[in-house]
Amino acid sequence: MRKMATTQASALNGASTRSGYRRKLIEKRMELMAAMGLKFDVMAGQGRVAEDDQAQVSHEEFISLRLNKLDYDVLKLVNEALDRLDNGDYGACLRCEEPIAPRRLEVLPWAKYCVRCQEKLSSRHCGAEEPDLAAAGAR
Ligand SMILES: [Zn+2]
Repeated sequence: MRKMATTQASALNGASTRSGYRRKLIEKRMELMAAMGLKFDVMAGQGRVAEDDQAQVSHEEFISLRLNKLDYDVLKLVNEALDRLDNGDYGACLRCEEPIAPRRLEVLPWAKYCVRCQEKLSSRHCGAEEPDLAAAGAR
């Protein structure tokens, strides 16, 4: 009886870590959607949604479009991470399938790759693969 309780407790521990990540991801998603909703409202109000308008928009609006793109990228990553939580792939690097360090997931619960793969990918794509630490993580 006692032994069973211990096993259950450790299983629960794993589950609570996952639900912790899930909560973070959902919070992040709400935050991003709220931020994007605000920006979209502002842009829609000004009739500046089409991308080929970019040449005409002011510097400030251009920045806001860029931020929006970044939010959208992170939102996509967040949704993908939630999918992985659902089908049990969460926490494994999508490239080498090694577990992603929990410390990395604490900071970036939507991380797709382990640090090593991310570094390789970043140096190849000039850091465009995952808009992480500098941009999204700092906010
Ligand atoms: Zn990896």
